[in-house]
Amino acid sequence: MKRFRLNSAGVLKVKNEERLLTLNDFELSEILATMPEGQVILVGDADKTFTVQAIVGRQNKGFAWIIFDDLTQVWSEDYLVDLLEEAVKKRQDLIEDPLTNGYRLFNGEGDGVGGITIDYYDGFIQINWYSKGAYCYRTWWLQALNVIGIQVKGIYETKRYSVGSDDSAIAHTWGIEAPKPLVISEAGRKYAIYLGESWMTGVFFDQREVRNFIQTQVHEGRVLNLFSYTGAFSIAASLGGAKRVVSVDVAKRTLEWTQENFELNGLDNKEDHHEIRIMDVFDYLDYASKQSFRFDWVICDPPSFARTKTSTFQALNDYPTLAKKLFALTKVGGLCVLSTNHSGYTKEQFTKDMNQIGQGKFQLIQSFGLPSDFPNSKDPQSAYLKVLVYYRAR
Ligand code: SAH
Repeated sequence: MKRFRLNSAGVLKVKNEERLLTLNDFELSEILATMPEGQVILVGDADKTFTVQAIVGRQNKGFAWIIFDDLTQVWSEDYLVDLLEEAVKKRQDLIEDPLTNGYRLFNGEGDGVGGITIDYYDGFIQINWYSKGAYCYRTWWLQALNVIGIQVKGIYETKRYSVGSDDSAIAHTWGIEAPKPLVISEAGRKYAIYLGESWMTGVFFDQREVRNFIQTQVHEGRVLNLFSYTGAFSIAASLGGAKRVVSVDVAKRTLEWTQENFELNGLDNKEDHHEIRIMDVFDYLDYASKQSFRFDWVICDPPSFARTKTSTFQALNDYPTLAKKLFALTKVGGLCVLSTNHSGYTKEQFTKDMNQIGQGKFQLIQSFGLPSDFPNSKDPQSAYLKVLVYYRAR
């Protein structure tokens, strides 16, 4: 079997225990460029001090995922069974939590193999494929899921790489279909999930700890939730006793969905308790500033990139300007929760930028990363979530 040599950048990645290789990490990338998806390749340094095994799976800039650090292991269906069993063990606390039935079951490279994630929604699972190379082993994965004995009623699959016109990017592929909505519970909070419609199913499990924090700390606060999507944070705040919650999102579909989540949690009958605004966050911020609105809690969880009819937002460049406006809306004694999932925005840089904006008035009192069901690898893009909580002292 041919062994492909890494250049110094590639060697450094392996030494740092990173898992994702790009073509730029190899000495002779031309031969590799035509390598078929899913191929297991041997990769090492010029001095032959190490040889690792990787699987070709092109995604964004990535080319292959390292799966084994030496030659002793064999890529097989049995290995996937081992990985899934490990993954289940790691999540025992969530699996046994009677108040929670939605979580990430397998988190790609953090659980041993990149290019695939699996989410669990009360008996239904959604498998997300990030490359054709990962998808090549679909039958092994399905068989392995069957072997480990998780009770699965139905499976949905999403392909997050570019697919041909006769191939669907999202589909129900096995078992019974989930009810619409499928109501799941997270620490007792109810959320309406719609499987098979979009890869965004209604709730992002990676923010669970932040929702728990908000619910337990909000008391009687007045809350603003920006980029609210289905209102997952708004529900946590309301259940925690928030007096009033304003949710802002530009997507029309989120109005009904957020309303539905309020109803599921028995929060729809309190008069004037919540307001859902379908509008651009940046327009809302101008309006709120003109009206001199102030909130005890300002929660902001934007996408890394967003373009609407009237605004463009790029976390890396535009978060500081956004944060300035958010801080201005936060009452003295209140909290501002700033989140970004942009993997290119490091925790150090994000914290430094936000500290600078809040200087003299705001104190960083708490931060969150990914929860235990989202283990990460050493790759820089793997620990993507950063959530900072600022307290307004003056
Ligand atoms: N904070 C959410 C997840 C946000 S997903 C949660 O806790 O689940 C990103 C959301 O931002 C999407 O619903 C999208 O419609 C919305 N969005 C993107 N750009 C926007 C803008 N300029 N103004 C308002 N909403 C925006």
